[in-house]
Amino acid sequence: MCGIIGISHHKEAGKMAFLGLYGLQHRGEEAAGIVTYDGKDTHVLKRTGLAVDNFDEESIAKLKGHAAIAHTRYSTTGGSNIKNIQPIFVTHRKKPIAVAHNGNLTNTEELYARLEAAGSIFQTSMDSEIMVHLLARTTNGELKEWFSRMLAQLKGAYSVVFLYEDYVIGARDPQGFRPLCLGKLDEGYILASESCAFDLMKAKFVREVEPGEIVIIKGNHIESTFLPKIQEEGRAFCVFENVYFARPDSHIFDDNVYQVRKRLGAQLAKEHPMQADFVMGIPDSGNYAALGYAQELNLPFEIGMIRNHYIGRTFIQPTQFLRDFRVRVKLNPIREVLEGKKVVVVEDSIVRGTTSRNRIQEIRAAGAKEIHMRISCPPIVSPCFYGIDFPSTKELIAHNKTVKEIADYIKVDSLGYLSREGMLEVMKNKNGFCTACFTGKYPTPIPVNTDKLQLEKGHTVTP
Ligand code: AMP
Repeated sequence: MCGIIGISHHKEAGKMAFLGLYGLQHRGEEAAGIVTYDGKDTHVLKRTGLAVDNFDEESIAKLKGHAAIAHTRYSTTGGSNIKNIQPIFVTHRKKPIAVAHNGNLTNTEELYARLEAAGSIFQTSMDSEIMVHLLARTTNGELKEWFSRMLAQLKGAYSVVFLYEDYVIGARDPQGFRPLCLGKLDEGYILASESCAFDLMKAKFVREVEPGEIVIIKGNHIESTFLPKIQEEGRAFCVFENVYFARPDSHIFDDNVYQVRKRLGAQLAKEHPMQADFVMGIPDSGNYAALGYAQELNLPFEIGMIRNHYIGRTFIQPTQFLRDFRVRVKLNPIREVLEGKKVVVVEDSIVRGTTSRNRIQEIRAAGAKEIHMRISCPPIVSPCFYGIDFPSTKELIAHNKTVKEIADYIKVDSLGYLSREGMLEVMKNKNGFCTACFTGKYPTPIPVNTDKLQLEKGHTVTP
């Protein structure tokens, strides 16, 4: 998963892009980059790790220009190599083009083979690079036709921003898997994966870029064009963005994420009610649904675990003690709250089950008498090909275990998952979501080669 930003017209576009990355840091912690254009030269800054920690003031100050795009990376294709840090930047016919992409393409292998046969040499092992090669080989015409023709060759998930000289161009695939929002700065526009980035920059939320829409922005001027649109039933907004990934203060897919999560919790309470001394969430991701659950059943809501925000790195050998330490340092249960109590513990989702098992063990060790776990989405049984980095199928605990077996593994007194129908019931655009990770039914043909490192072979490894 990744976060993307575009700034069309600001005297310090590079700095603004950096502030935008603050808002999108949760979408990718592996690496980040910013590319700016000052009317003559292009400036590039890329670093591994968190943008908020590793981008220094001096380097940001060198990012001259009034147009910028930026990216924060969580690899879903390609490894964690330095060469794979986005935005990808190339020069085509003496003009700079940069691209920052969120999502995964599903026809990567076919496009890659076609482009290589035609002479393309790839610098990275990311599907995103395909876009600049296609641009170079697609007939230039008017800008919007050029980009439309290129984008029409892609299949799968892409929310994407381009920098082409002074132009900032944003686009979303016709099914709309990943979010992309449009905001207004005093002068110029801003594009961002999530609207929470706008608040930090005092930008005004204008609207979401629509599925299949391409917005072409230069300075204060914006125009839009569309790839062939898909009917509502063909839309495939990623429901996991709402369940877990996006920030609760964002407005995406026509809704506020915080309110969606509370509604998921309320629906969960209707499907799996449990009388208890109180309801708590596993911080932070489980808190919102926990609140909705408690309010629906008129039960007290308590904070039973405290999150430590200063986790940092432990530069010590990964012994079992230290592995446990990492889990313990993040969340600490409050014995005085939990002792002797019957509790409902709400979590947004279970992926491998290992974290949940540890948390439950800690809550039990802090004295809870009965633990009833509730999950605000259905069991995750299938991998994602559109940009969420789930582990392989065999590592997904719900792939080959029943709910009862999962409850035994996690060691809870009862376990209840929200149904798919219940989950969709509380969404706006009920028919417009991709739920493939819960059903194995994919809204597009899925790729033949599903290896995240499929383009890695033969590439030099940068230490
Ligand atoms: P676990 O009990 O180990 O499955 O961990 C569950 C927690 O990890 C939940 O809060 C999940 O939402 C969160 N999580 C979210 N996305 C992922 C992912 N792609 N891989 C692993 N865990 C994830």
